[in-house]
Amino acid sequence: MGTLPRNRAASPQYDENKLGFGTIFTEHMLQMRYSADEGGWQVPEIVSFQDLVLHPATMMLHYGQQVFEGLKAFAGPDEEDILLFRPDMNIARFNKSCARLCIPIVDSDLFMDQMSKLIRLDRDWIPRTHGTSLYVRPTIIATDPFLGVRPSKQYLFYIILCPVGAYYPEGFNPVKIVVTDKYIRACRGGLGEAKTAANYAASLLAAEEAHEEGFTQVLWLNAVDKCSIEEVGTMNIFFRIDGEVVTPALEGTILPGVTRDSVIRFARDLGNKVTERQISIEEVVRAAETGSLQEIFGSGTAAVISPVSHFRYKGRDYMVGDGQTGPVARRLFDDLTAIQTGHKPDPYGWMVNVGK
Ligand SMILES: *Cc1c(COP(=O)(O)O)cnc(C)c1O
Repeated sequence: MGTLPRNRAASPQYDENKLGFGTIFTEHMLQMRYSADEGGWQVPEIVSFQDLVLHPATMMLHYGQQVFEGLKAFAGPDEEDILLFRPDMNIARFNKSCARLCIPIVDSDLFMDQMSKLIRLDRDWIPRTHGTSLYVRPTIIATDPFLGVRPSKQYLFYIILCPVGAYYPEGFNPVKIVVTDKYIRACRGGLGEAKTAANYAASLLAAEEAHEEGFTQVLWLNAVDKCSIEEVGTMNIFFRIDGEVVTPALEGTILPGVTRDSVIRFARDLGNKVTERQISIEEVVRAAETGSLQEIFGSGTAAVISPVSHFRYKGRDYMVGDGQTGPVARRLFDDLTAIQTGHKPDPYGWMVNVGK
């Protein structure tokens, strides 16, 4: 196996306090090719981080057969610790997305072993400043050089790593979101529950228009009735109304977030009533008008928890609670990030230490 030695001379040169997201990449990457005509999966290799050389007809570039994942590795309190947050869920979701996109699945144990090995090799790149982490991006693309429409017979699976900065360098600040009833993201039977490029392509125009109006993210409604709420931008969404924490149920159109699942479990254990059900935008508007809408927050790997202070629907603006970060969002953010970085005990067995 082509594992390269750690090259100290190429060690990270960046300011941990100025790390953004997705601009700096580590020294190595993992790659593994698949060829249906050559017995399926080939031997995985860790190689120097490098550009891909692709035939211009590469199928992924034309028909979008692609799947990705996103998870984080954290430096733990002990020098040797490298903590991954629920990587088994990302691997399972990756393979579920692959099945939907007619992409061959990757053996889960092999995935975990190779990913861990790559992270260990580039461990010097894991930032240690509070709030920073190493973002892990497993990706698979269809690589047949062919312009006909069918599933590809060849694929490239790869994993790249990025040291990323604190999501809230200036504090845990709430954002403003806008509800769109003009565009849709996904509908039942479509790709909405797969983590694939097409969902992002579908969302960009709405996000651009939202930014022009001064909003950070788009809140998506159900494609059919434009009534029930789905998710927000790259996050799942939670509402706290009259003490009940509500999040849309998974019915095939929204991405089943690892953070979402963790928030449901954790918020329940903190004594909150948490319900997965359909929730309409009308219910949220009514709650805002009657003063029973206490909190809205998004959940996702990048931000963990993203509180929402205002939302716009049909041209009207509504304030959430008192417009500040609510107590449940703050508690979830503080405790989940403390568990992720090994600063609080992990009663769930969520953290996997791949450092040793
Ligand atoms: C990745 C993603 C999420 C969040 O999932 P996590 O596993 O919590 O990071 C939510 N919505 C969409 C559309 C996503 O792609």
